[in-house]
Amino acid sequence: MRHRDLCPKVPEGETRIIHPVTDEDYVFPAALLACGELVAFPTETVYGLGADATNEAAVAKIFAAKGRPGDNPLIVHVARKSDIPPLVTHITPLAQCLMDAFMPGPVTLVMPKSRLIPDLVSAGLPTVGIRMPAHPVALNLIRHAGVPVAAPSANMSGSPSPTRAEHVEKDLSGRIPCIVDGGPCDVGIESTVIDVTDSWPVILRPGAITMSMLEDACAKAGILPHGQPDSPAFDAENQGVPKAPGMKYRHYAPKAEMRIVMPESGDRKTQYLEAVLSFLADRGDGKLGVFCGNSEHEFLEMELTPEQHQQIIFYVFGGDTDIDAAARGLFDGIRSLDSAGVGRILAAGFVGAGLEHAYMNRLEKAAGAKRELEPLEADRDSPCRSVLFVCTGNTCRSPMAEAIFNKMAAEKGPFSEMGQPRSEVCLSASSAGIYAVNGSPAEAGAVEAAKNLFAADLSGHASRKTTDEMISENDMIFTVTREHAVILRRFFPELAWKIESFSEYMSRKSIILRADDGTVRKADLPDPFGQHRIVYEKTAMSLHAIIEAMWPAILDDLGIVAAD
Ligand code: AMP
Ligand code: MG
Repeated sequence: MRHRDLCPKVPEGETRIIHPVTDEDYVFPAALLACGELVAFPTETVYGLGADATNEAAVAKIFAAKGRPGDNPLIVHVARKSDIPPLVTHITPLAQCLMDAFMPGPVTLVMPKSRLIPDLVSAGLPTVGIRMPAHPVALNLIRHAGVPVAAPSANMSGSPSPTRAEHVEKDLSGRIPCIVDGGPCDVGIESTVIDVTDSWPVILRPGAITMSMLEDACAKAGILPHGQPDSPAFDAENQGVPKAPGMKYRHYAPKAEMRIVMPESGDRKTQYLEAVLSFLADRGDGKLGVFCGNSEHEFLEMELTPEQHQQIIFYVFGGDTDIDAAARGLFDGIRSLDSAGVGRILAAGFVGAGLEHAYMNRLEKAAGAKRELEPLEADRDSPCRSVLFVCTGNTCRSPMAEAIFNKMAAEKGPFSEMGQPRSEVCLSASSAGIYAVNGSPAEAGAVEAAKNLFAADLSGHASRKTTDEMISENDMIFTVTREHAVILRRFFPELAWKIESFSEYMSRKSIILRADDGTVRKADLPDPFGQHRIVYEKTAMSLHAIIEAMWPAILDDLGIVAAD
């Protein structure tokens, strides 16, 4: 820390706003950082609230200013790649490859931390997330400060991340001494967080950099195997059973209730119109906010009467299918519709595996992570919610998942509809295979593992090929690897939004599986076919750990609770 006399002073309760133009403009905010004070600054993703990462007292001020829970780790920002080695114990070839390919850029790499990083920064974890932002203002500020800068998003905990200096002002004015204004953020969604402590990358939070981009960059360099990893999720030395879930990160909470409007047959126009009309028919409380694209806006303007129109406040992000524009405008849209006092927000949903995935992750958090489900049939004695597991041949992984899920449902049930304690809802799973032959029995290794570990009987199983009907009739569809999800979505594009791999679902829900040694376990399960008996057992154990970790989120998404 600098000598006190050299430290700038900002009176308590005052917040200076800087619009940097020349190098000299960075001297004041950089000195504040170097002196252990907080400075908010722009990055290409969202605005960050920075403090000297090596100064524990400075870092503590971040948690206080934001009201952030202490178990949520901070990301450490650097201005040069050469500043990274002292912050970590080692850099694996995978980490190096990703640093070369994506830094500076919207990516955070989780690596084993060195002693320079206080436990407060990493929330007690043995790892630290490192990021080099691609924003000239951030880089200049960090370089001038001469220290690594720990920075979470510069919002109050629980509100949407800030993508403009005005958002930071609204949340933190008077609580921090300085905001550096660099205009609106370009990406608008927080960085992709990737655990690179292992030889295979695990995406902990989706962002603009996707798994296929990682694979493209590092498979070419021979760092990553193409396609799925060929080692089983649990290798022979690692007997550790993964710990149950870490769904600890807070959700954004807009004041307005949010509904997601998904495209159908590639179009959202009629879905918007129906949703608007039904809101107006209900005479919902307050006005309706609509977060949509240009031609959707024009369409609604044309279809609605002037009186109906008066009930609506629009936020138009750009072209209807422009995911970049939608992501850039998302948090600004939520914030501005919220402050206009709307009672409900209809927000554009997107289908896709790129930025769309990260966008939907944030949108669903804002919407309370609820999927629109078919209403339960009230006239039946016990209406049902159902889950489908899909693998390749439906003879091993998916039948085991089915058996494990049904066993858990039997143990944890009975279930009732959320908010209707006296209702009764049945819950069950089935399974199918993308390339299955109808009627094959389960593999012997799978039958044995299911019997030994879960006392489940797969001997009567008959494999089934995945059909259109199965996809539409089930409420949720999980595939055992990401590749399966990609293929299945290609086969059933209309219902693509229903289909997710375990790994995609877990990253969207911030569910993290850890082994006993704290390392993150991957949720993609390779085919144990033809392997030793022990590999089948390990696959079954992994499936059990995955389903158990996802269980609360699945029940929540299905709108049911265990009745007691
Ligand atoms: P924020 O910058 O507010 O989006 O918060 C930083 C986020 O980065 C955390 O909520 C975590 O999701 C992630 N993160 C940071 N450091 C780590 C770490 N060491 N291990 C896992 N996730 C991390
Ligand atoms: Mg945040």
